[in-house]
Amino acid sequence: MEIFREIKPLRAFLREKNKAGFLIGFVPTMGALHLGHLSLIEASKKAGCFTVCSIFVNPAQFNNADDLKKYPRTIEEDVKLLKEVKCDVLFSPTAEEVYPHASNTQFDFGSLGTTMEGEFRPGHFSGVALVVSKLFHIVEPDHAFFGQKDWQQFTIINQLVKDLNFNIQLHPIPTLREPDGLAMSSRNQRLTEKQRGKAIVFYKSLLECQSRLSDGEKLDEITPSIKNKIEQDAELRLEYLQLANRENLSSLNSVEEPNRTVLCIAGFVGDVRLIDNILL
Ligand code: AMP
Repeated sequence: MEIFREIKPLRAFLREKNKAGFLIGFVPTMGALHLGHLSLIEASKKAGCFTVCSIFVNPAQFNNADDLKKYPRTIEEDVKLLKEVKCDVLFSPTAEEVYPHASNTQFDFGSLGTTMEGEFRPGHFSGVALVVSKLFHIVEPDHAFFGQKDWQQFTIINQLVKDLNFNIQLHPIPTLREPDGLAMSSRNQRLTEKQRGKAIVFYKSLLECQSRLSDGEKLDEITPSIKNKIEQDAELRLEYLQLANRENLSSLNSVEEPNRTVLCIAGFVGDVRLIDNILL
């Protein structure tokens, strides 16, 4: 695996690969890699792509300085895992390389960006769109792979690609879960063993909500009891439970059209914020 810390040599290297007829597949990450990330790399390899993974903890998408400081960083272990899955290139730039000067560009995705994560993490998606645009321009991939775990992020990047004419095919990849159902996440590494046991409550809540919705209950009838159950434990807090149209993310109270709906949840275990969703 080739490892690049700087843009210029990476670009020169990838342009040669492109000239030689390789399709470039791109998997942007913030590192602290787990099997979920590796499934994206594997999807890219399976699609026949020369695969580039980036690891960059993007300061522009953190609205909470403490969250940025505590975000897990495990680069040596990450390199080992990437070699194991035969990733072709790792790009792991410094913040100075990505942001050599202060950026003023802001992205506004309208209602896609103000709901759910956008409501609770103001500026988050503008920071995501900024770094993803930069990385798309640097890597110039043919294909890019994103996890369904961050459904709203996928929707927004899809919009970004269409709006800015990026010539990139996006691939949403299903969420990988631990055996008990907890969605794999770099942030799980921050949980104590006891907290790890409690974190499953969010996925269980999604399943309970799904079953009650299919029995005909409305989301606004279900949410208070789920919130109550979660928050019986002083260390747990529900931030939102939202049913939305998969494409435009408009809020729903019941599953009007099967296969076009997503049920999303966000909450805290201690000071660790977790998100998850299921497609209905
Ligand atoms: P992150 O490093 O958390 O920014 O995630 C990098 C990419 O991996 C994003 O496209 C995520 O949606 C995806 N991802 C994160 N967790 C999972 C998971 N459990 N299963 C599949 N993809 C994931």
